[in-house]
Amino acid sequence: MESIEKLTNILRSNGMKITPQRLMIFKVLKNNTSHPSAEEIFRRVKRTYPTVSFTTIYKTLETLRDLGEIKELIIDKDRKHYDPNTDSHHHVICSTCKKIGDILDDYSPSIKLPDSIKNKYTVSGFQISFYGVCNDCR
Ligand SMILES: [Zn+2]
Ligand SMILES: [Zn+2]
Repeated sequence: MESIEKLTNILRSNGMKITPQRLMIFKVLKNNTSHPSAEEIFRRVKRTYPTVSFTTIYKTLETLRDLGEIKELIIDKDRKHYDPNTDSHHHVICSTCKKIGDILDDYSPSIKLPDSIKNKYTVSGFQISFYGVCNDCR
């Protein structure tokens, strides 16, 4: 994700109005490594701006995702999480509290794609999700 200032300019040039509520969404996301869900971001922004709607939050997140500023993670099908770190990396998920941690190791040397796939696709990336139970939940 770009700096708040750059991001503001990018969104303005894409026709989006920069409201204080939207600015707060950017601030909540910036350098956030907790992979918040749309609901969590909504709750955070609502504390300061009680009249903000979930639709505003969700639409802003969709725009940021479409512009490639954040990554959308679908860990369980009912909840989308957002990651401002758009560099290739992997995740570990606690199956009890659903906490999501980052793994920045590069696994690409150990990943071997079968020829049948290589013949059909030009693969540009991959993402690994590890599942387990975190220390707090054990
Ligand atoms: Zn846990
Ligand atoms: Zn991440």
